[in-house]
Amino acid sequence: MRASRFFISTLKEAPSDAEIVSHKLMMRAGMIKRLGSGIYTYMPMGLKVIRKVEAIVREEMNRAGAIELLMPLVQPAELWQETGRWDKMGPELMRVKDRHGREFAIQPTSEEVITDVVRGEIKSYRQLPLNFYHIQTKFRDERRPRFGLMRGREFTMKDAYSFDRDLEGMQKSYQVMFDAYTKIFTRFGLKFRAVAADNGAIGGTGSHEFHVIASTGEDALVYCPTSDYAANMEAAEAVASGTRAAPSAELVKTATPKAAKCEDVAKLLGIDLSKTVKTIALTVETETDGKLDKQYFMLLLRGDHELNEIKAAKVPGLQGAYRFSTEAEIAEVYGCKPGYLGPIGTKAPVTVVADRTVANMADFVTGANEEDFHFTGANWGRDVAEPHVTADLRNVVEGDPSPDGKGVLAIERGIEVGHVFQLGTAYSAAMNATYLDENGKPAPLQMGCYGIGVTRILGAAIEQNFDDKGIIWPTSIAPFELVLCPMGYDRSELVKEETEKLYAAALAAGIDVIVDDRGLRPGAMFADWELIGVPHRVVIGDRGLKDGNLEYQGRRDTEATNVPVADIVAFIK
Ligand code: ATP
Ligand code: MG
Ligand code: MG
Ligand code: MG
Repeated sequence: MRASRFFISTLKEAPSDAEIVSHKLMMRAGMIKRLGSGIYTYMPMGLKVIRKVEAIVREEMNRAGAIELLMPLVQPAELWQETGRWDKMGPELMRVKDRHGREFAIQPTSEEVITDVVRGEIKSYRQLPLNFYHIQTKFRDERRPRFGLMRGREFTMKDAYSFDRDLEGMQKSYQVMFDAYTKIFTRFGLKFRAVAADNGAIGGTGSHEFHVIASTGEDALVYCPTSDYAANMEAAEAVASGTRAAPSAELVKTATPKAAKCEDVAKLLGIDLSKTVKTIALTVETETDGKLDKQYFMLLLRGDHELNEIKAAKVPGLQGAYRFSTEAEIAEVYGCKPGYLGPIGTKAPVTVVADRTVANMADFVTGANEEDFHFTGANWGRDVAEPHVTADLRNVVEGDPSPDGKGVLAIERGIEVGHVFQLGTAYSAAMNATYLDENGKPAPLQMGCYGIGVTRILGAAIEQNFDDKGIIWPTSIAPFELVLCPMGYDRSELVKEETEKLYAAALAAGIDVIVDDRGLRPGAMFADWELIGVPHRVVIGDRGLKDGNLEYQGRRDTEATNVPVADIVAFIK
């Protein structure tokens, strides 16, 4: 590729709505362009990375025996009604009507369609096992799209679905996918961890998430450095007992105003109610028209109040008062199962809904927080007419004993980039997808499903690999592996000639190379490629060429190295 014929559009400053490093750098490097909330054009430089991610995913899926097909983006409502997800999915499911008034879903995932395909195609146990996958656009009307490609509304996912005769077969298929994911994330060159996960709303029997480790990750991961134990915070909290109150069951109760007692919450949070008032700091992020604003709230727990009167006051100003919502509201808003308010640590929805009828603002005296009772990562819903707050609280902490008894727990943050589920017969039973066994008797298919957030990988890779100059792509997914930077391409015949020779040699060696023939000054040229994050750079200049040398610099190197012209391709390879 020649830079003059490619599209390069870099920015000195990131737009103000970009909050985290990866979003800022992707915008500055001209990889994506925002069209609307959570909707982006993948610009040529970004698309190159996406295609490389897809290629690795595709190669390893094929190698693991999965078969590629492509299912529609727009899917009839009837299919989603068969499994009940038309209603269950809530507002995250994007729905459209055609000219006849028929309803459709824009797919957030494709269990229904693949189960429909298979129930029509698979007759006999002899056709099993099978694993179908596609790499397709998804749409999820996320409550709070943010962080660029990290939590988009329109995004690309690889989703795969396995079909087996029995539980044992399904578990084998699951293991094959687990291993394939391990290879995929290893090939991306990213530091990652697979953790046990709750199955959540999808149902089924077993599940793991794959997380790219990054301090900016939305999820807390609990692991034991001296054993194999690793779980996401929700799963870790589900097994944690004894030392602290198990939160989920309790929180369910507390979410129902009738049943909720301040004592329940207090017990959960480990608050001593003999101190009559407890204040908890909430950092609340408000989003209005894509603009973010941070506000600080205090959540007041009062010993003599029912939980539904637990109040949060805005600080400063004290213009708002809020009460906890009902369990159903929470479930609806957060897409979690009613009756499950998830353990804290990650996204436990302690939800606060506006109640502007509370008059006694004097109640909201705010005091200092006590240690260890900070809610973090609280999200203020963007719909101001119906504001919500979620708060994080942690019920499993570093140093707790590992459930396997083989050490103590550590916690790190991660970005969920992949998720594998054992579904069992949840979908096949609902949709009557059966096969005929050896005795000619129909039996429900055992299913698994396996997702990778293709476009999210870009954000996750950057969160893990950047410096003050820009992105540092792992070579396997870099937009270009090598950039040639000629000094005076149009002035020096020698430079031009050597550049062209090297360009041809790199192409012949199978290196994804770009030559910067735009005629920029060195500073601007280098800044662009450091921002874009190309891992290898070779500078071709008259000075070095006099001694038969080129200047090589790896993206992480602090200095350039002189490499003889004849050795350079081998040096990079
Ligand atoms: P999250 O917890 O981040 O909302 P999820 O658990 O809802 O993700 P899954 O249904 O497990 O997501 O989908 C499989 C993969 O798709 C996820 O592991 C993630 O990598 C990716 N993904 C999910 N939602 C988004 C999104 N809004 N934008 C980009 N990628 C996403
Ligand atoms: Mg989600
Ligand atoms: Mg998740
Ligand atoms: Mg998931």
